[in-house]
Amino acid sequence: MEGFRKFLDFFLDLLFPPKCLLCKRLNSNLICPECLSQLTPFRGKTCSLCGVPLEGKDNRCPQCLRNPPYFDRGFFYGLYQGKLEEAILRFKYQDHPGLSAPLGKLLAEKFRETGVQVDLVTWVPLHQRKLKMRGYNQAELLARAISVNLGLPYGDLLIKKKETKPQSRLSREERLKNVIGVFKPKSAVELQGKSLLLVDDVVTTGATASECARVLKEMGAEKVFVLSLARGTGTQRPIS
Ligand SMILES: [Zn+2]
Ligand SMILES: [Zn+2]
Repeated sequence: MEGFRKFLDFFLDLLFPPKCLLCKRLNSNLICPECLSQLTPFRGKTCSLCGVPLEGKDNRCPQCLRNPPYFDRGFFYGLYQGKLEEAILRFKYQDHPGLSAPLGKLLAEKFRETGVQVDLVTWVPLHQRKLKMRGYNQAELLARAISVNLGLPYGDLLIKKKETKPQSRLSREERLKNVIGVFKPKSAVELQGKSLLLVDDVVTTGATASECARVLKEMGAEKVFVLSLARGTGTQRPIS
């Protein structure tokens, strides 16, 4: 069987040579080294709490000064635009779960740079129906890839019990309301005193991450850090 599989792969590669998903040039990687180098990390100033890009002298964004999130600090890799946006769209909507390996590696390196120590990696869950439709939860795959890269355990801690309207079409206030009470603990796990890393693919207002953090803290977590591949710019394409 193994031999036949290899034989088949050989002919499939001849017929459909592997190409980079982003530039379509022949390459054995899902993202070729050149495109990978164009997935640039954000190096500008960010809010010292939620992690949103920030200008001016303040260390916290107006939103965090008024109404801080339940998580302790947010980090992201890059802005949701250009090649990074394209990579995320392919990862999420075009059935390329394998992209979690290169993207998770980038994200793990970014998190390592922050120097923040955590005990456990977890993710923002999808509703069961959406999970069945897509076949995988991109945030979970990223979290697993990060846990492998950082040598940390991961935990399947939350359930999304209600389907919600796509956050990308809502205003900030609507987003906050949209996610209240939609997550619950998956099982009674001992999180007392633990620091968690909560992973999502894109964070825009942080409303979903904050609500997940609230539940994780109710479950005993002492600290929740949020890590996403991209920070939404507010002008992203409407996607569901
Ligand atoms: Zn490429
Ligand atoms: Zn902030």
